[in-house]
Amino acid sequence: MLKRSVNEVALAGRRVLMRADFNVPVQHGVVGDQTRITASLPTIRLILAAGAKLVLTSHLGRPKEGKPDAESSLRPIAAILSQHLGFEVGMIADPRTDAALAAVEALPAGRALLVENVRFFAGESTNDAALGAAYARLADVFVNDAFGSSHRAHASVVGAAAHIPAVAGLLVEKELAAFDAVLGTAKRPFVAILGGAKVSDKIAVIDNLMERVDALIIGGGMAYTFLAAKGIDVGASLLEKDRVVFARSLLDKAAARGMKIYLPTDHVIADRFAADAQRKIVSGAIPHGWMALDIGPESAAEFSAVIRAAGTVLWNGPMGVFEMAPFAAGTQAVARAAAECSGVTVVGGGDSAAAVNHFGLSERMTHVSTGGGASLELLEGRGLPGVAALQDRG
Ligand code: ADP
Ligand code: MG
Repeated sequence: MLKRSVNEVALAGRRVLMRADFNVPVQHGVVGDQTRITASLPTIRLILAAGAKLVLTSHLGRPKEGKPDAESSLRPIAAILSQHLGFEVGMIADPRTDAALAAVEALPAGRALLVENVRFFAGESTNDAALGAAYARLADVFVNDAFGSSHRAHASVVGAAAHIPAVAGLLVEKELAAFDAVLGTAKRPFVAILGGAKVSDKIAVIDNLMERVDALIIGGGMAYTFLAAKGIDVGASLLEKDRVVFARSLLDKAAARGMKIYLPTDHVIADRFAADAQRKIVSGAIPHGWMALDIGPESAAEFSAVIRAAGTVLWNGPMGVFEMAPFAAGTQAVARAAAECSGVTVVGGGDSAAAVNHFGLSERMTHVSTGGGASLELLEGRGLPGVAALQDRG
Protein backbone atom coordinates (compact mmCIF):
# COMPACT_ATOMS: atom_id res chain seq x y z
CA MET A 1 0.00 0.00 0.00
CA LEU A 2 2.87 2.40 0.74
CA LYS A 3 4.37 4.10 -2.27
CA ARG A 4 7.65 5.91 -2.72
CA SER A 5 7.83 8.92 -0.45
CA VAL A 6 8.61 12.59 -1.01
CA ASN A 7 11.44 11.90 1.46
CA GLU A 8 13.17 9.68 -1.05
CA VAL A 9 13.33 11.78 -4.23
CA ALA A 10 15.80 14.47 -5.23
CA LEU A 11 14.10 17.84 -4.90
CA ALA A 12 16.87 20.48 -4.92
CA GLY A 13 16.52 22.83 -7.86
CA ARG A 14 13.58 20.88 -9.26
CA ARG A 15 10.03 22.02 -9.96
CA VAL A 16 7.59 20.16 -7.73
CA LEU A 17 3.84 19.97 -8.35
CA MET A 18 1.96 19.11 -5.17
CA ARG A 19 -1.73 18.25 -5.08
CA ALA A 20 -3.02 19.25 -1.68
CA ASP A 21 -6.47 19.17 -0.14
CA PHE A 22 -7.21 22.78 0.82
CA ASN A 23 -10.95 22.16 0.66
CA VAL A 24 -11.68 24.14 3.83
CA PRO A 25 -14.87 25.99 4.70
CA VAL A 26 -14.78 29.51 3.22
CA GLN A 27 -17.56 32.05 3.65
CA HIS A 28 -17.38 35.45 1.99
CA GLY A 29 -13.64 35.04 1.58
CA VAL A 30 -13.06 34.12 5.23
CA VAL A 31 -11.54 30.70 5.96
CA GLY A 32 -13.13 28.76 8.83
CA ASP A 33 -11.48 25.59 10.16
CA GLN A 34 -7.90 25.52 8.81
CA THR A 35 -7.15 21.89 9.75
CA ARG A 36 -6.67 20.75 6.16
CA ILE A 37 -4.28 23.60 5.37
CA THR A 38 -2.13 23.05 8.44
CA ALA A 39 -2.12 19.29 7.81
CA SER A 40 -0.31 19.92 4.51
CA LEU A 41 2.33 22.26 5.92
CA PRO A 42 4.88 19.57 6.88
CA THR A 43 5.13 18.38 3.27
CA ILE A 44 5.19 21.93 1.91
CA ARG A 45 7.98 22.92 4.30
CA LEU A 46 9.98 19.79 3.48
CA ILE A 47 9.81 20.54 -0.25
CA LEU A 48 10.70 24.22 0.16
CA ALA A 49 13.55 23.49 2.59
CA ALA A 50 15.00 21.05 0.05
CA GLY A 51 15.40 23.96 -2.37
CA ALA A 52 12.63 23.11 -4.82
CA LYS A 53 10.18 25.42 -6.59
CA LEU A 54 6.71 24.44 -5.49
CA VAL A 55 3.47 24.61 -7.45
CA LEU A 56 0.43 23.80 -5.30
CA THR A 57 -2.99 22.65 -6.50
CA SER A 58 -6.30 21.93 -4.78
CA HIS A 59 -10.03 21.99 -5.29
CA LEU A 60 -12.35 24.09 -3.16
CA GLY A 61 -16.10 23.73 -2.85
CA ARG A 62 -18.30 22.66 -5.72
CA PRO A 63 -18.19 25.26 -8.49
CA LYS A 64 -19.71 24.20 -11.80
CA GLU A 65 -16.74 22.51 -13.48
CA GLY A 66 -14.98 24.69 -16.02
CA LYS A 67 -16.79 27.82 -14.75
CA PRO A 68 -14.58 30.00 -12.53
CA ASP A 69 -16.56 31.81 -9.82
CA ALA A 70 -15.28 34.25 -7.23
CA GLU A 71 -16.86 32.38 -4.30
CA SER A 72 -14.70 29.30 -4.99
CA SER A 73 -11.43 31.10 -5.65
CA LEU A 74 -8.36 29.84 -3.81
CA ARG A 75 -7.18 33.42 -3.12
CA PRO A 76 -8.13 33.24 0.58
CA ILE A 77 -6.08 30.03 0.81
CA ALA A 78 -3.05 31.76 -0.75
CA ALA A 79 -3.34 34.44 1.94
CA ILE A 80 -3.36 31.83 4.74
CA LEU A 81 -0.44 29.95 3.19
CA SER A 82 1.49 33.24 2.92
CA GLN A 83 0.96 33.83 6.65
CA HIS A 84 2.20 30.34 7.55
CA LEU A 85 5.16 30.34 5.17
CA GLY A 86 6.35 33.90 5.73
CA PHE A 87 6.41 34.89 2.05
CA GLU A 88 3.84 35.90 -0.51
CA VAL A 89 2.34 32.87 -2.27
CA GLY A 90 1.29 34.07 -5.73
CA MET A 91 -1.47 32.62 -7.88
CA ILE A 92 -1.46 30.84 -11.23
CA ALA A 93 -4.78 31.69 -12.87
CA ASP A 94 -4.66 28.99 -15.56
CA PRO A 95 -2.15 26.10 -15.51
CA ARG A 96 -2.65 25.39 -19.24
CA THR A 97 -1.01 28.63 -20.39
CA ASP A 98 2.54 29.63 -21.31
CA ALA A 99 2.19 32.40 -18.71
CA ALA A 100 1.89 29.68 -16.05
CA LEU A 101 5.05 27.98 -17.30
CA ALA A 102 6.89 31.32 -17.31
CA ALA A 103 5.74 32.09 -13.76
CA VAL A 104 7.17 28.78 -12.57
CA GLU A 105 10.45 29.42 -14.43
CA ALA A 106 10.72 32.83 -12.76
CA LEU A 107 9.96 31.46 -9.29
CA PRO A 108 13.00 31.35 -6.97
CA ALA A 109 13.87 28.03 -5.30
CA GLY A 110 12.25 27.68 -1.89
CA ARG A 111 9.15 29.61 -2.97
CA ALA A 112 5.64 28.51 -3.91
CA LEU A 113 2.76 29.38 -6.24
CA LEU A 114 -0.85 28.27 -5.91
CA VAL A 115 -2.89 27.27 -8.96
CA GLU A 116 -6.53 28.42 -8.98
CA ASN A 117 -9.24 25.92 -8.03
CA VAL A 118 -8.69 22.79 -10.15
CA ARG A 119 -12.46 22.59 -10.67
CA PHE A 120 -12.27 25.83 -12.69
CA PHE A 121 -10.75 23.80 -15.54
CA ALA A 122 -12.94 21.58 -17.71
CA GLY A 123 -11.89 17.94 -17.68
CA GLU A 124 -10.85 17.76 -14.02
CA SER A 125 -13.44 15.20 -12.94
CA THR A 126 -13.24 13.20 -16.18
CA ASN A 127 -9.44 13.06 -15.92
CA ASP A 128 -8.97 14.71 -19.31
CA ALA A 129 -5.56 13.63 -20.65
CA ALA A 130 -4.58 17.08 -21.94
CA LEU A 131 -5.37 18.70 -18.61
CA GLY A 132 -3.27 16.14 -16.72
CA ALA A 133 -0.42 16.74 -19.15
CA ALA A 134 -0.74 20.52 -18.70
CA TYR A 135 -0.23 20.13 -14.95
CA ALA A 136 2.74 17.81 -15.44
CA ARG A 137 4.35 20.32 -17.87
CA LEU A 138 4.78 22.69 -14.93
CA ALA A 139 6.94 20.29 -12.91
CA ASP A 140 9.63 17.61 -12.73
CA VAL A 141 8.15 15.70 -9.78
CA PHE A 142 4.56 15.16 -8.65
CA VAL A 143 3.66 14.83 -4.98
CA ASN A 144 0.21 13.67 -3.90
CA ASP A 145 -0.52 14.99 -0.43
CA ALA A 146 -4.28 15.24 -0.97
CA PHE A 147 -5.44 12.23 1.00
CA GLY A 148 -8.98 13.61 1.06
CA SER A 149 -9.10 13.62 -2.77
CA SER A 150 -7.27 10.37 -3.41
CA HIS A 151 -10.47 8.39 -3.92
CA ARG A 152 -11.12 10.47 -7.02
CA ALA A 153 -9.52 9.63 -10.38
CA HIS A 154 -9.35 13.32 -11.34
CA ALA A 155 -6.86 15.11 -13.61
CA SER A 156 -5.08 16.98 -10.80
CA VAL A 157 -4.80 13.80 -8.71
CA VAL A 158 -4.30 10.92 -11.15
CA GLY A 159 -3.73 12.59 -14.54
CA ALA A 160 -0.79 14.72 -13.42
CA ALA A 161 0.91 11.64 -11.96
CA ALA A 162 1.04 9.86 -15.31
CA HIS A 163 3.83 11.95 -16.85
CA ILE A 164 6.51 12.56 -14.20
CA PRO A 165 7.88 10.71 -11.17
CA ALA A 166 5.03 10.69 -8.68
CA VAL A 167 5.41 10.16 -4.94
CA ALA A 168 3.34 10.31 -1.76
CA GLY A 169 3.49 13.33 0.52
CA LEU A 170 3.91 13.04 4.28
CA LEU A 171 0.18 13.41 5.00
CA VAL A 172 -0.78 10.69 2.53
CA GLU A 173 1.89 8.44 4.03
CA LYS A 174 0.66 9.12 7.56
CA GLU A 175 -2.95 8.43 6.60
CA LEU A 176 -2.09 5.19 4.78
CA ALA A 177 0.07 4.00 7.68
CA ALA A 178 -2.74 4.66 10.16
CA PHE A 179 -5.29 2.69 8.14
CA ASP A 180 -2.70 -0.02 7.55
CA ALA A 181 -2.27 -0.38 11.32
CA VAL A 182 -6.01 -0.98 11.62
CA LEU A 183 -6.79 -2.99 8.51
CA GLY A 184 -3.51 -4.91 8.45
CA THR A 185 -2.58 -6.83 11.57
CA ALA A 186 -4.54 -4.95 14.21
CA LYS A 187 -3.70 -5.37 17.89
CA ARG A 188 -6.51 -7.30 19.62
CA PRO A 189 -9.13 -6.90 20.76
CA PHE A 190 -10.05 -4.90 17.69
CA VAL A 191 -13.23 -2.91 18.29
CA ALA A 192 -14.99 -0.95 15.54
CA ILE A 193 -17.51 1.72 16.45
CA LEU A 194 -19.97 2.54 13.69
CA GLY A 195 -22.55 5.27 13.80
CA GLY A 196 -23.87 8.14 11.77
CA ALA A 197 -27.11 8.58 10.02
CA LYS A 198 -27.60 5.68 7.66
CA VAL A 199 -26.94 1.97 7.37
CA SER A 200 -27.10 2.28 3.59
CA ASP A 201 -24.07 4.63 3.53
CA LYS A 202 -21.96 2.08 5.37
CA ILE A 203 -22.99 -1.39 4.20
CA ALA A 204 -19.67 -2.05 2.45
CA VAL A 205 -17.80 -0.76 5.52
CA ILE A 206 -19.79 -3.03 7.83
CA ASP A 207 -19.24 -6.03 5.54
CA ASN A 208 -15.48 -5.45 5.36
CA LEU A 209 -15.01 -4.79 9.09
CA MET A 210 -17.16 -7.75 10.03
CA GLU A 211 -14.36 -10.01 8.75
CA ARG A 212 -11.71 -8.29 10.87
CA VAL A 213 -13.02 -7.10 14.22
CA ASP A 214 -13.59 -8.83 17.56
CA ALA A 215 -16.54 -6.60 18.44
CA LEU A 216 -18.74 -4.11 16.67
CA ILE A 217 -20.39 -1.22 18.48
CA ILE A 218 -23.30 0.27 16.56
CA GLY A 219 -24.80 3.59 17.59
CA GLY A 220 -26.20 6.71 15.95
CA GLY A 221 -29.11 6.75 13.57
CA MET A 222 -28.11 3.44 11.97
CA ALA A 223 -28.62 1.58 15.26
CA TYR A 224 -32.41 1.85 14.91
CA THR A 225 -32.56 -0.26 11.79
CA PHE A 226 -30.66 -2.94 13.75
CA LEU A 227 -32.97 -2.60 16.76
CA ALA A 228 -35.98 -2.87 14.45
CA ALA A 229 -34.42 -6.05 13.03
CA LYS A 230 -34.46 -7.41 16.60
CA GLY A 231 -38.17 -6.63 16.81
CA ILE A 232 -37.76 -3.59 19.06
CA ASP A 233 -40.09 -0.63 18.49
CA VAL A 234 -38.10 2.39 17.32
CA GLY A 235 -40.91 4.99 17.27
CA ALA A 236 -40.12 7.87 14.93
CA SER A 237 -36.34 7.20 14.97
CA LEU A 238 -34.39 6.89 11.72
CA LEU A 239 -35.38 3.58 10.19
CA GLU A 240 -34.39 2.22 6.81
CA LYS A 241 -37.08 -0.35 6.21
CA ASP A 242 -35.32 -1.73 3.13
CA ARG A 243 -32.19 -2.45 5.21
CA VAL A 244 -33.84 -4.39 8.01
CA VAL A 245 -33.17 -7.69 6.23
CA PHE A 246 -29.48 -6.80 5.86
CA ALA A 247 -29.33 -5.82 9.54
CA ARG A 248 -30.97 -9.10 10.57
CA SER A 249 -28.56 -11.18 8.49
CA LEU A 250 -25.59 -9.33 9.97
CA LEU A 251 -26.82 -9.98 13.51
CA ASP A 252 -27.27 -13.68 12.65
CA LYS A 253 -23.84 -13.92 11.05
CA ALA A 254 -22.24 -12.34 14.12
CA ALA A 255 -24.12 -14.65 16.47
CA ALA A 256 -23.03 -17.71 14.47
CA ARG A 257 -19.41 -16.64 14.79
CA GLY A 258 -19.60 -15.65 18.43
CA MET A 259 -18.74 -12.08 17.50
CA LYS A 260 -20.21 -9.49 19.81
CA ILE A 261 -22.37 -6.68 18.42
CA TYR A 262 -23.22 -3.95 20.92
CA LEU A 263 -26.38 -1.92 20.29
CA PRO A 264 -27.73 0.88 22.49
CA THR A 265 -30.02 -0.32 25.29
CA ASP A 266 -31.14 3.15 26.37
CA HIS A 267 -31.68 6.35 24.43
CA VAL A 268 -32.08 10.10 24.62
CA ILE A 269 -35.38 10.64 22.85
CA ALA A 270 -37.04 13.81 21.60
CA ASP A 271 -40.53 14.72 20.44
CA ARG A 272 -39.10 16.41 17.35
CA PHE A 273 -35.77 16.94 15.55
CA ALA A 274 -34.68 20.15 17.28
CA ALA A 275 -32.24 21.28 19.97
CA ASP A 276 -35.09 22.67 22.10
CA ALA A 277 -37.33 19.61 21.69
CA GLN A 278 -38.89 17.94 24.71
CA ARG A 279 -36.45 15.28 25.82
CA LYS A 280 -36.24 12.20 28.02
CA ILE A 281 -34.21 9.06 28.58
CA VAL A 282 -35.80 5.65 27.99
CA SER A 283 -34.65 2.03 28.06
CA GLY A 284 -35.76 -0.52 25.49
CA ALA A 285 -38.49 0.48 23.05
CA ILE A 286 -38.93 4.06 21.80
CA PRO A 287 -42.46 5.34 22.47
CA HIS A 288 -44.73 6.13 19.51
CA GLY A 289 -44.09 9.62 18.10
CA TRP A 290 -40.66 9.98 19.76
CA MET A 291 -37.29 9.73 18.06
CA ALA A 292 -33.95 8.62 19.51
CA LEU A 293 -31.31 11.27 18.84
CA ASP A 294 -28.52 9.96 21.08
CA ILE A 295 -27.51 6.81 22.91
CA GLY A 296 -28.43 6.89 26.60
CA PRO A 297 -26.03 7.05 29.59
CA GLU A 298 -26.19 3.30 30.28
CA SER A 299 -25.21 2.51 26.66
CA ALA A 300 -22.50 5.18 26.72
CA ALA A 301 -21.01 3.55 29.84
CA GLU A 302 -21.17 0.05 28.35
CA PHE A 303 -19.62 1.15 25.04
CA SER A 304 -16.93 3.14 26.86
CA ALA A 305 -15.80 0.15 28.92
CA VAL A 306 -15.37 -1.96 25.76
CA ILE A 307 -13.51 0.84 23.99
CA ARG A 308 -11.11 1.53 26.85
CA ALA A 309 -10.08 -2.15 26.96
CA ALA A 310 -9.44 -2.42 23.21
CA GLY A 311 -6.07 -2.98 21.56
CA THR A 312 -7.29 -1.24 18.41
CA VAL A 313 -10.22 1.13 18.02
CA LEU A 314 -11.63 2.23 14.71
CA TRP A 315 -14.37 4.81 14.87
CA ASN A 316 -16.61 5.94 12.05
CA GLY A 317 -19.86 7.79 12.64
CA PRO A 318 -21.20 9.78 15.61
CA MET A 319 -23.40 8.14 18.27
CA GLY A 320 -26.08 10.83 18.05
CA VAL A 321 -26.94 14.21 16.63
CA PHE A 322 -23.85 15.72 18.26
CA GLU A 323 -24.32 18.98 16.33
CA MET A 324 -27.08 19.77 18.86
CA ALA A 325 -25.67 20.03 22.40
CA PRO A 326 -28.56 18.14 24.10
CA PHE A 327 -27.76 15.09 21.94
CA ALA A 328 -23.94 15.20 22.06
CA ALA A 329 -23.24 13.33 25.31
CA GLY A 330 -23.08 9.85 23.78
CA THR A 331 -20.64 10.88 21.08
CA GLN A 332 -18.56 12.77 23.63
CA ALA A 333 -18.43 9.75 25.98
CA VAL A 334 -17.25 7.49 23.15
CA ALA A 335 -14.66 10.09 22.10
CA ARG A 336 -13.39 10.31 25.65
CA ALA A 337 -13.17 6.53 26.00
CA ALA A 338 -11.18 6.32 22.76
CA ALA A 339 -8.90 9.09 24.03
CA GLU A 340 -8.34 7.10 27.22
CA CYS A 341 -7.70 3.83 25.39
CA SER A 342 -4.02 2.89 25.40
CA GLY A 343 -4.32 1.00 22.11
CA VAL A 344 -4.25 2.30 18.54
CA THR A 345 -7.18 4.66 17.91
CA VAL A 346 -8.13 5.76 14.41
CA VAL A 347 -11.04 8.05 13.56
CA GLY A 348 -12.34 8.13 9.96
CA GLY A 349 -15.29 9.99 8.48
CA GLY A 350 -15.86 13.70 8.09
CA ASP A 351 -18.48 14.18 10.81
CA SER A 352 -16.68 11.89 13.26
CA ALA A 353 -13.47 13.89 12.81
CA ALA A 354 -15.45 17.11 13.29
CA ALA A 355 -16.93 15.69 16.51
CA VAL A 356 -13.52 14.71 17.90
CA ASN A 357 -12.18 18.17 17.04
CA HIS A 358 -15.24 19.77 18.61
CA PHE A 359 -14.57 17.93 21.89
CA GLY A 360 -10.89 18.92 21.78
CA LEU A 361 -9.73 15.28 21.78
CA SER A 362 -7.98 14.99 18.39
CA GLU A 363 -4.50 15.13 19.90
CA ARG A 364 -5.31 12.16 22.07
CA MET A 365 -6.15 9.82 19.20
CA THR A 366 -3.48 7.91 17.32
CA HIS A 367 -4.89 9.34 14.11
CA VAL A 368 -7.82 11.44 12.99
CA SER A 369 -8.22 11.17 9.25
CA THR A 370 -8.43 14.34 7.16
CA GLY A 371 -10.35 12.54 4.41
CA GLY A 372 -13.98 11.52 4.94
CA GLY A 373 -14.74 9.86 1.60
CA ALA A 374 -11.23 8.50 1.12
CA SER A 375 -11.17 6.97 4.60
CA LEU A 376 -14.54 5.30 3.96
CA GLU A 377 -13.24 3.74 0.76
CA LEU A 378 -10.23 2.33 2.64
CA LEU A 379 -12.57 0.99 5.33
CA GLU A 380 -14.59 -0.67 2.59
CA GLY A 381 -11.39 -2.49 1.62
CA ARG A 382 -10.97 -0.58 -1.62
CA GLY A 383 -7.79 0.98 -2.98
CA LEU A 384 -7.45 4.68 -3.74
CA PRO A 385 -6.88 5.71 -7.39
CA GLY A 386 -4.76 8.67 -6.29
CA VAL A 387 -2.43 6.31 -4.47
CA ALA A 388 -2.43 3.64 -7.16
CA ALA A 389 -1.30 6.33 -9.65
CA LEU A 390 1.90 6.97 -7.73
CA GLN A 391 4.82 5.20 -9.26
CA ASP A 392 8.42 6.04 -9.64
CA ARG A 393 9.60 7.13 -13.08
CA GLY A 394 13.19 8.00 -12.13
P1 ADP B 1 -19.17 10.40 9.10
O1 ADP B 1 -19.15 11.69 8.30
O2 ADP B 1 -18.30 10.46 10.30
O3 ADP B 1 -18.93 9.20 8.22
P2 ADP B 1 -22.04 10.18 8.84
O4 ADP B 1 -22.02 11.21 7.77
O5 ADP B 1 -22.33 8.79 8.48
O6 ADP B 1 -20.67 10.24 9.68
O7 ADP B 1 -23.14 10.58 9.93
C1 ADP B 1 -23.12 11.80 10.62
C2 ADP B 1 -24.51 12.32 10.86
O8 ADP B 1 -25.33 11.36 11.52
C3 ADP B 1 -24.49 13.54 11.76
O9 ADP B 1 -24.93 14.65 11.03
C4 ADP B 1 -25.45 13.19 12.89
O10 ADP B 1 -26.27 14.26 13.27
C5 ADP B 1 -26.27 12.06 12.30
N1 ADP B 1 -26.85 11.21 13.34
C6 ADP B 1 -26.22 10.55 14.31
N2 ADP B 1 -27.09 9.92 15.11
C7 ADP B 1 -28.33 10.19 14.66
C8 ADP B 1 -29.65 9.85 15.07
N3 ADP B 1 -29.88 9.07 16.14
N4 ADP B 1 -30.69 10.33 14.35
C9 ADP B 1 -30.47 11.11 13.27
N5 ADP B 1 -29.25 11.47 12.82
C10 ADP B 1 -28.18 11.03 13.52
MG1 MG C 1 -20.60 12.54 6.97
